[in-house]
Amino acid sequence: MKNHDLDNELWFNFKEHCSGKHFIVGNPHTFHGRISAYCPQKDVFFNVSLREIDEMPLTTKYWIKGFLVGNEPACPVDDEGDVFPRTHEEFIHWDKNIKLFHKTGYWYSGDRNCGVCGLKLLNSWTEFDCETCFEKK
Ligand SMILES: [Zn+2]
Ligand SMILES: [Zn+2]
Repeated sequence: MKNHDLDNELWFNFKEHCSGKHFIVGNPHTFHGRISAYCPQKDVFFNVSLREIDEMPLTTKYWIKGFLVGNEPACPVDDEGDVFPRTHEEFIHWDKNIKLFHKTGYWYSGDRNCGVCGLKLLNSWTEFDCETCFEKK
């Protein structure tokens, strides 16, 4: 820990990695929402998304909230470079995407469709099937 400039209050549990505390490092500049973190138990750096975190104190929760706002992918623009009106299908889709992004901290860049029914998936949706098909399983 001493060699790394980390904040002791910005910890979280990530059981998939190990049972000890992990610490927020910053922005890895890989995918939207990814957070770079440090594991003192294994002395390794790794990247994590909000949905993968098991437990965290309020300090970490609010660090991530602010981080995700600053990390929102830009809203879609038309051929002239203007933002679509809020009632436009493209804007509505983006708005839903962003709302879910704040819960998952996940963003797939590119288009994906549901593996079952073919519906266009939100970029911030973490499953391969849409919500309806996923719930039927
Ligand atoms: Zn660990
Ligand atoms: Zn589906």
